[in-house]
Amino acid sequence: MEKKQFQAESKRLLDLMIHSIYTHKEIFLRELISNASDATDKLYYHAMQEGKTGILRDQLPITLTVDRDARTLTVSDHGCGMTAEEMESNLGTIAHSGSLQFKQENDKQEDIDIIGQFGVGFYAAFMVASKVEVVSRADGAETANRWISDGADGYTIEPCEKETVGTDITLTLMEDSENDQYSEFLDEYRLQGLVKKYSDYIRYPIQMEMTRSRQKEGCDPEKPEWEEYKELTTLNSMIPLWKKSKSELKDEDYNNFYKQKYFDFEDPLRHIHMSTEGAVTYNALLYIPSHAPMDYYTKNYEKGLALYSNGVMIMEKCADLLPDYFSFVRGLVDTADLSLNISRELLQHDRHLKLIASGLEKKIKNELANMMKNDREAYVKFFQAFGLQLKYGAYVDYGMHKELLEDLLLYHTSASEDMVSLAEYTERMPEGQKYIYYACGETKAKIELLPQMELLKEKGYEVLCLTDDIDEFCMKMMHAYKEKEFKSIADGDLDLESDEEKEEIKQLTEEYKTVLDGVKNALGDKVTGVQLTSRLKSHPCCLSAKGMVSLEMEKVLNQQPGQEKVHAERVLELNAEHPIFDKLKTADADKLAKYAQVLYAQAQLIEGLQIDDPVAYANTVCELML
Ligand code: ADP
Ligand code: MG
Repeated sequence: MEKKQFQAESKRLLDLMIHSIYTHKEIFLRELISNASDATDKLYYHAMQEGKTGILRDQLPITLTVDRDARTLTVSDHGCGMTAEEMESNLGTIAHSGSLQFKQENDKQEDIDIIGQFGVGFYAAFMVASKVEVVSRADGAETANRWISDGADGYTIEPCEKETVGTDITLTLMEDSENDQYSEFLDEYRLQGLVKKYSDYIRYPIQMEMTRSRQKEGCDPEKPEWEEYKELTTLNSMIPLWKKSKSELKDEDYNNFYKQKYFDFEDPLRHIHMSTEGAVTYNALLYIPSHAPMDYYTKNYEKGLALYSNGVMIMEKCADLLPDYFSFVRGLVDTADLSLNISRELLQHDRHLKLIASGLEKKIKNELANMMKNDREAYVKFFQAFGLQLKYGAYVDYGMHKELLEDLLLYHTSASEDMVSLAEYTERMPEGQKYIYYACGETKAKIELLPQMELLKEKGYEVLCLTDDIDEFCMKMMHAYKEKEFKSIADGDLDLESDEEKEEIKQLTEEYKTVLDGVKNALGDKVTGVQLTSRLKSHPCCLSAKGMVSLEMEKVLNQQPGQEKVHAERVLELNAEHPIFDKLKTADADKLAKYAQVLYAQAQLIEGLQIDDPVAYANTVCELML
């Protein structure tokens, strides 16, 4: 029999194909199944055109058959098949796509979802097979043909027998080597997994004999014996959930799909089902999980949505579809509008992809805003899991995403047990309140004990209680919410005093200059200043920070390994109305120095800071007690 050479171009392409186009060998199965599906579509389409009714998709299965001894895997279909000439032109010429031609010849029909277009998918078989045999009988033909190739050397075509219309493609898998275990493609479970992964939504049943075991009939129930048997199993679920209409689907359907697909034991908080037509046409099914996966806040977590084109998975995790701050969203996008490259893999810079991503971003934001408004309980749960990511999003890129995210943030507050949004906070601000006040600390309870809180409470001002490391950085980056500036209650200048109060403090400061100087001298470099304040009520003193770095930021930054230590400029503020201040006024120089050390240490403790020398502190307290 005459052996034909692949055309020169084809030969080079074949080489490229086998060695570099695809990154994963396993996709060969996706390609063969896609071709089988295309061929079946064509047959179906012609039948419809000729007015043949009564053909059901269920009756046109695609079958996988494994022969472990012969090391072969066969993909069979009941599609349109190929004549000898078609084999010649479609399989003998790489980059010739019979499917593309079909699409061009037949106006785009609604019910037709042909996948092929590049004419290279078939050759992916040579990544795993040392020999490929195609037996095909074309629709309407009496005889069949066998096409055989072992790759580079070319191929042969000869007539043969085949009972039914359609195509069987048999791969003889390459021998296993140290790096590649081709035998895995003889494993039923591996094949089942690949079908689920790439071809779950092919519209025809993909079937395979699966080995199962059962109790032998009539055996002693005390000593059950087991036997293996084969069962023809449909591997794919066929109808993509997201292509059904929303009215057909119940919450339960969405939730079950989510749990199965993402191995989650809990229902998601929300699902978003979109079908959009316009500049780009796509379906999307998105989920907001109810809890963060174990690795969510680690480097190992990979964001992204699965990307499907006509029901075939193109990419498992397309990161470009989700911004980092919505990285918790899971789900998929299905669109026929992508300009796929030849390997159906890399498509980062696709214009349509960007359009889809921005559509999704808006939709996710609206869904979250809606949840916050109408289902606060669920939203709080969501925020506990992923709020940190949103705050981080508002902080990064120099606050670029602030507007998108600011209304999605929630904070603990001094005014109620429930968390509050910035909109809610500003709505209930009493008249005359200039700023949005916040305080940082380890817990809300600890924050509420801060000396500075008293005055704000007295004024009826609400204070946001920030407990996450990122919080204060985020506040500084956002700077303001709808023109209301954020202000830390630990700031040196809270701008709360009335003019009379300011005047009074000024007078007192002059009057007790020696006391204040004495305290400052005793503390030396530890503080930048010592001053009187009217913001304290029952507390004798507090610490505040001057300049860019707050005490809270100092704590957070100094926890980061390898960072140069930063230092907040501390100001010790004293309450002149407190009985302790009388003690300071009457103390001699030695006592005053000791009082100063003790008060400073206490102010640090209250702020949740470490004191420099606990032993010296304890000794001083004891000396004063004696
Ligand atoms: P594409 O699918 O992008 O067109 P392929 O290399 O996967 O390219 O396939 C090349 C051509 O071979 C297809 O367009 C089709 O005409 C033909 N072909 C491949 N597999 C089959 C099949 N199972 N039945 C009928 N025709 C097939
Ligand atoms: Mg193909």
